[in-house]
Amino acid sequence: MLDIVTLGDEVLREQVEEIKDVNGEIADLAQNMITAMYEGDGIGLAAPQVGLTKSLFVCHVNGDQPRVFINPQIVGTSQELLPYEEGCLSIPGVYGDVVRPAFVSVQAINENGRPFKLDAEGLLARVIQHEIDHLKGVLFVDHIEEKQRDRLLKSYYKKARK
Ligand code: ZN
Repeated sequence: MLDIVTLGDEVLREQVEEIKDVNGEIADLAQNMITAMYEGDGIGLAAPQVGLTKSLFVCHVNGDQPRVFINPQIVGTSQELLPYEEGCLSIPGVYGDVVRPAFVSVQAINENGRPFKLDAEGLLARVIQHEIDHLKGVLFVDHIEEKQRDRLLKSYYKKARK
């Protein structure tokens, strides 16, 4: 069972490394990450959140299937931006509006080593962008205006100490 690391852990701020060989070990890791995501009641989980600096994330939004993205790259985004309330398994209990492109095109490799391209909108587009941020050491709270972020995190740390 994989443990999910929380805000304050340095690994959440590290850059990931590209996965050179999509082998059975990586496929198992992806499966274990999907399990950990379900356990945490989340809709997305990136490798740094389980302490690994690998370019990999998983997601499963309502009405879709579980998906694995290895070495993902955003290759297109819409001009249209939308605010949406985000949360993160690594910052439990904290939610805030983040403005992001409404649509994204992403290229990645799946758990079987097959490259694919996906055009996503709605919640899926949102999760993909949130998770790709994790692979760059970026957290959703980084996108929130400073004063509001300080307020959110103050209450988070207060709760975390209890
Ligand atoms: Zn997150």
